[in-house]
Amino acid sequence: MVESHPHLSHFIGKGHTSQRVRDKLAARLQQQGVSHPQVLDAIRFTPRHSFIDAALSTRAYDDTALPIGYAQTISQPYVVAKMSACLLEHCQSTRRVLEIGTGCGYQTAVLAQLFEQVYTVERISGLLQQAQQNLSALGLRQIHYYHGDGYQGWQAHAPFDAILVTAAAPKIPPALLAQLQVGASLIIPVCGDDGQQYLELIQRGAHNYQHQRLDPVKFVPLRPGLS
Ligand code: SAH
Repeated sequence: MVESHPHLSHFIGKGHTSQRVRDKLAARLQQQGVSHPQVLDAIRFTPRHSFIDAALSTRAYDDTALPIGYAQTISQPYVVAKMSACLLEHCQSTRRVLEIGTGCGYQTAVLAQLFEQVYTVERISGLLQQAQQNLSALGLRQIHYYHGDGYQGWQAHAPFDAILVTAAAPKIPPALLAQLQVGASLIIPVCGDDGQQYLELIQRGAHNYQHQRLDPVKFVPLRPGLS
């Protein structure tokens, strides 16, 4: 039995929010090709029901996106797991990760179990406050919050070992490329010419950036400015 993050074990839940339900979700993601053990553990140990409205808690461990207010959504667990695993496989250090689009903080909680320090940026102040409450209630303390425009990244703490964006951009924001450490990777949903969104993985080498197009996805748009 792998041990959870010291604080998360207190959020066991019961019935449709029980550990058994989270174990089933992790098993399902594993069947669907998520093989990274640390990522599966993070899914198993993160109480997704505590990030959404109680009225939706019967659906908390369905593998779907759900509304979180402000016309935004909590990401689908499969996508959270896939993006996290992909980043881990393509970064040279797990010291510092930048997340753009905190939302309710679910993906942030998963990252906090995989990286030493998490820097997270959200443009909607009401959501950032909610996320801060959700994450501190879980005792996750190595998270740094910024009410800002993710198109600009978070220059004061750059460079990062990994960057994960949870909203779809028309094109890759140059500031995010510039804030990658050499050897670091960025994963971001980007709108393709066909109107479909795709995950793109960009790795920074010593002299260039290598781009790779991954699966089609469906995210809310990355919007400029603050709200
Ligand atoms: N990471 C969340 C998903 C959030 S949905 C989860 O774990 O479920 C995407 C989030 O990106 C929304 O909260 C939206 O407000 C935010 N967002 C959109 N454009 C942004 C920008 N330019 N900077 C920062 N956050 C942005």
